Amino acid sequence: MDLETIRERLLREEVEAFLVSKLENVRYLSGFTGSSACVLVTPGDLYFVTDPRYEEQAASQVPPAFQKVILKPGERLSALVKGKGWSTLAVEDSMSLGQYQALKKGLDGGEIRVWRGVIEEQRRVKTPEEVEEIGRAVALAQEAFHKVRGMLKPGVSERDLALELEFVMRRQGAQGVAFPFIVASGPRSAMPHGDASHKVLEDGDLVILDFGARWRGYHSDMTRTFKLGPWRAWEKEVYTVVLEAQEAAMAAIRPGVEAKEVDGVARRIIEEAGYGDYFGHGLGHGVGLEIHEAPTLAPTSEDVLEVGMVFTVEPGIYLPGKGGVRIEDMVFLGPRGPEVLTSLPKGVAE
Ligand code: ZN
Ligand code: ZN
Repeated sequence: MDLETIRERLLREEVEAFLVSKLENVRYLSGFTGSSACVLVTPGDLYFVTDPRYEEQAASQVPPAFQKVILKPGERLSALVKGKGWSTLAVEDSMSLGQYQALKKGLDGGEIRVWRGVIEEQRRVKTPEEVEEIGRAVALAQEAFHKVRGMLKPGVSERDLALELEFVMRRQGAQGVAFPFIVASGPRSAMPHGDASHKVLEDGDLVILDFGARWRGYHSDMTRTFKLGPWRAWEKEVYTVVLEAQEAAMAAIRPGVEAKEVDGVARRIIEEAGYGDYFGHGLGHGVGLEIHEAPTLAPTSEDVLEVGMVFTVEPGIYLPGKGGVRIEDMVFLGPRGPEVLTSLPKGVAE
């Protein structure tokens, strides 16, 4: 956490306090894992604000550098701000319009500025401790996958596969799923985000399985595409193109490279193979306290890849009415280049 940058900005822009209200950011700054709290950063102080339900939890999780404020039912944050005599406050752009209006009303006459992505900017580069937590989230998802691998066969419904994977993952210690799993089989695999449905896996299906675990607030995210039965020629071709695109993108990852350039490497391979119209999403996204966070690997991204970032590389080709293939791995960008965090096999051999 880099409070100095925030404090310099507060002084430079003559703002008296920065209100951090997005829970992932509150957690990042304070370590608090509950679901109702905010942090106020001022040039000289740090406040942690929650309600009586979380008083004890805050006492054990939030470091002493924070002055703790417990707002009882009916007490308003705006009253706290006014009581401190602050007239100019900065808020996060993720604040809801309703929260913003309530604060504005309570501050009557006070000024509110909206600051965009301040803490998210700091979260782009992970600490070694964060990389370790993410690694654990990857391991939990992969271990669970290996245990339910046998269910990938005709006769099992997409939903049952997703439920079993979730159950095993949680029983092994995951906090929960990173997102509702995608299990899309047969023609449904042409939907990049096909939720697990009641459809039953059939012989001959391509199956896209996109899943991940949550561990101490951190996420993992990975996709494999399986074939039930022998590969048809077009399926093998599409799979090979996607894998080539992913490998080429991986090889282009290094500190200082533009994220859109890496996206472009994968995209060109898919375009040159004639499937350019069927890769309708970005190449990847950062993963951390949120399942989708900075950086974004996409044609319009302005992000530059830096040492310490953790992100996915997930090209795909989706042919409407026929089926699709996506391969997604997670990468940590170290000083010597990308280290792939995920390790599930992805050959086309079977
Ligand atoms: Zn995914
Ligand atoms: Zn993803």
